[in-house]
Amino acid sequence: MQIVRSVQEMQGIAERLRSEGKRIGVIPTMGSLHQGHLSLIELAHRESDVVVTTLFVNPTQFGEGEDFERYPRDLDRDKVLAQGAGTDILFVPDANEMYPEGYGTFVSVEGVTEILEGAFRPGHFRGVATIVLKLFNITKPHVAVFGQKDAQQLFIIQKLVGDLNLDVQIRVAPILRDVDGLALSSRNVYLKSDERLRATALSRSLKHAEARVRAGERSVVRVKGEMQEILRQADPMKIDYLTFVDPSSFREVAAIEPPSLLIALAVRLGATRLIDNILIPVP
Ligand code: AMP
Repeated sequence: MQIVRSVQEMQGIAERLRSEGKRIGVIPTMGSLHQGHLSLIELAHRESDVVVTTLFVNPTQFGEGEDFERYPRDLDRDKVLAQGAGTDILFVPDANEMYPEGYGTFVSVEGVTEILEGAFRPGHFRGVATIVLKLFNITKPHVAVFGQKDAQQLFIIQKLVGDLNLDVQIRVAPILRDVDGLALSSRNVYLKSDERLRATALSRSLKHAEARVRAGERSVVRVKGEMQEILRQADPMKIDYLTFVDPSSFREVAAIEPPSLLIALAVRLGATRLIDNILIPVP
């Protein structure tokens, strides 16, 4: 596995690979890799000739008072894991090169970036869209892989790709969970042991909703109420949002209707903010 730090060198490598007819697969990450990230790398490995994993804790997607400084970083461990999962090139750019003095261009996807995560993290998706477009311009992928874990981010990236005619295919990897159901996240290391236990309420509430919808329940109010009750049992926990949306538009729905429903939630457990979601087919 080759480690590349310079933007120009990465662009040169990508250009050469393209001229050789190689298919480039890219997985943007913020590092502190876990099995969820590795499943994305493995998916890219199956779909491309050369796998580029990018590792960059992107300052522009963190708001004031968020965890940019304390976000977990472990490059040595990430190198071993990325290589083991099939990474050919690990791109680890420097923040000063990505955002030099005087940097001034940002990408704003409109509408959907204002709700849910966007409402609680103003400017977050502007940072995400900007860094993803920059990483695409640097690594020149044919295919890029993102996780369903960040469902709204995925929706926004698909919109960015469509709206700006980016010539890259987006692949989606399912949410990887721990044995107790907690969605894997680099932020799970923040959880104290009692919080870790209570955090399982997120996936339990989502699984409960899935079972209810499968059994024919179609009332948002009832399913949401039951989910809130499951979450309440894990108190103290602050629910930022618990929202039922149409996955094709990300608009909130008043009733559960075919063909599918996405339930997205974000909670705060002590100093840790967790998100999770479930995509439920509605027959
Ligand atoms: P991050 O490093 O948190 O920015 O995540 C990088 C990519 O990994 C994003 O596309 C995430 O959606 C994806 N990802 C993070 N956690 C998981 C998970 N538990 N299962 C699947 N994909 C994930």
